[in-house]
Amino acid sequence: MTNPLLDVAGQPAELPRFADIRPEHVTPAIERLLADADAALQQAVSDAVPADYHALSAVLDVAVERLRRGWGAVGHLQAVADTPALRAAYAENLPRVTEFYTRLGADERLYAKYKAVAASPAAAHLPAEQRKALADALRDFVLGGAELQGPARERFAQVQDRLAALSQTFGEHVLDATDGYSLVASAGQLDGVPADVLAATRIDGSEDHKLTLHAPVYMPVMQYATNRALREQLFHAHSTRASELGAPAFDNTATLRELLELRQEEATLLGHASYADVSLVAKMAASPGQVLDFVRDLARRARPFAEADRDEMEAFAARELGLLDVQAWDRAFVSEKLKQARFAFSSDEVKQYFTEPRVLDGLFRLVETLFDVAIRPGSASVWHDSVRYFSVERGGEPIAGFYIDLYARSGKDSGAWMDDVRQRWQRPDGRGLQLPVAHLICNFAPPVGALPALLTHDDVITLFHEFGHGLHHMLTRVDELAVAGIAGVEWDAAELPSQFMENFCWEWDVLSHLSSHVQTGAPLPRALFDKVVAARNFQSGLAMLRHCEYALLDMRLHLEPDAAARVAAIVDEVRAEVSVLAMPAFHRYLNTFTHLFDGGYAAGYYGYAWAEVLSADAFSAFEEAGLFDPATGRRYREAILEVGGSRPALESFVAFRGREPRIDALLRHQGMVPA
Ligand code: ZN
Repeated sequence: MTNPLLDVAGQPAELPRFADIRPEHVTPAIERLLADADAALQQAVSDAVPADYHALSAVLDVAVERLRRGWGAVGHLQAVADTPALRAAYAENLPRVTEFYTRLGADERLYAKYKAVAASPAAAHLPAEQRKALADALRDFVLGGAELQGPARERFAQVQDRLAALSQTFGEHVLDATDGYSLVASAGQLDGVPADVLAATRIDGSEDHKLTLHAPVYMPVMQYATNRALREQLFHAHSTRASELGAPAFDNTATLRELLELRQEEATLLGHASYADVSLVAKMAASPGQVLDFVRDLARRARPFAEADRDEMEAFAARELGLLDVQAWDRAFVSEKLKQARFAFSSDEVKQYFTEPRVLDGLFRLVETLFDVAIRPGSASVWHDSVRYFSVERGGEPIAGFYIDLYARSGKDSGAWMDDVRQRWQRPDGRGLQLPVAHLICNFAPPVGALPALLTHDDVITLFHEFGHGLHHMLTRVDELAVAGIAGVEWDAAELPSQFMENFCWEWDVLSHLSSHVQTGAPLPRALFDKVVAARNFQSGLAMLRHCEYALLDMRLHLEPDAAARVAAIVDEVRAEVSVLAMPAFHRYLNTFTHLFDGGYAAGYYGYAWAEVLSADAFSAFEEAGLFDPATGRRYREAILEVGGSRPALESFVAFRGREPRIDALLRHQGMVPA
């Protein structure tokens, strides 16, 4: 009996037989792949494998990459075509796979072998991309505590375990505190709330509604409910979640304090001054000081625009709504009314112009023009009828491929993402060059009846964003697994290619070709386009300043050695320094800030704006030369997309732009240009 999952892993040139993979294939395949990877690890650290880059790679990378591809296919199917049996098979194998990778990353013998490779005379003659891969591997071992000895090593492991447990607790408290609250409201109290929210919250057999703190209920109530007391009540509940002002069982105050203390201890053990320093080792930003300067500079520039946004909102509230003292629980409501008054258009109207075939075709033509490729339909085994496969070619030769799965359905995770099926790799096992293949996954509303699916403008942006990640993965020319495509790219630069593509969705010359009314075939009217663009920057000053507040708070909490003891004071200091909006004293947003305490964003929140500076500045080169300028497209492709993680992101940026990144384009795109 053949196991299609083992075929996935065993035949690097073939595409996975997704349609044939069944839950019962998972455990036997993963057991086999894990056993092979484990055997490869034992061999790699033995004397049988010399301290030579290629010898080590041929044994270890080949086996680990097979495991990665096989397990990747399982994880992918679990995310896009879940069934109870598949979920059970995934859950059964996840701990074993995690255990293997943890052991691999902490193996002292393997670290010693890599060090011996780096110290060997041959290392100096390795191609640059292999030297970068080797340096990254050594760096990750050091950050994982591989240099520590004796009690420090033991303590480091304890700290890691405790940090993982605390992060999980933090996240669970947020979920439980959110789930633990509800408020019954009569229909009469919900004046202004959209009909779909009313329908979703109605209590069976009753005229009343059950309101919760989950975003699909909380946000529209705050935006639309005319009942001010109700908004205040919900806002209070929302902003005291997981704090000492809410249920004691879910209070995160001590959890986040201990997280900060232990992160500082981890940094000290690793020989760094702060956790912020540790976080930045593998990022593009050079130092915490550089990040602080960046965030404060951005805050200073955004401030006048944020003040104008605030003043406009408050004046509108007083004039049109008779609201003279706008409070925190009024802001979303007032802003929504102001937005409607200023930019009256419905996203439903815009949607009629973006049919899926037209948008996809327009996106492909743009990519073909800019990056000198051809995108052709191909055939492949897929996990759902609506999924398509395309081949990317240059000069008649395939260079990559991708699956595209656009529509929401049950059994599919929400959101949108790019994932790799396999990476570009000059395989050391004699199987030649492996071409990259990507998954592009979205959750758009499926077509209804005979008409094509309609995309909102936000959907179009999402598609371009994920395609940008996909291009980074697929157009790479790097042959080394660990630094090809998106692999090995600094975390705070990884959104450059994705956000770069988003910019095209705000250009008339692009959108007019991407749009075609579902009934009449007419392109998007210019007047409607202008409204969409004007609404883009609605309250962008306030949004930017809020981002700066979070980023500065994150950095200071992870930089100052006594931060754990001064959390509340630092929150107040940052707010006083940055914010232009007063917040009530009960507001405890840090207690639910999962990005920092149960996510990968600790001392990294600034990365959103950081990458946007890069993407906006990169795009401005196209604004200068012409949006479809092939020469600029070629330089962007060669300097940024093709090199992936094989060199520092700053070098790649400078190679493209001829200088270091500047903030001007970001400010201009956001409408924040000083008068
Ligand atoms: Zn992204």
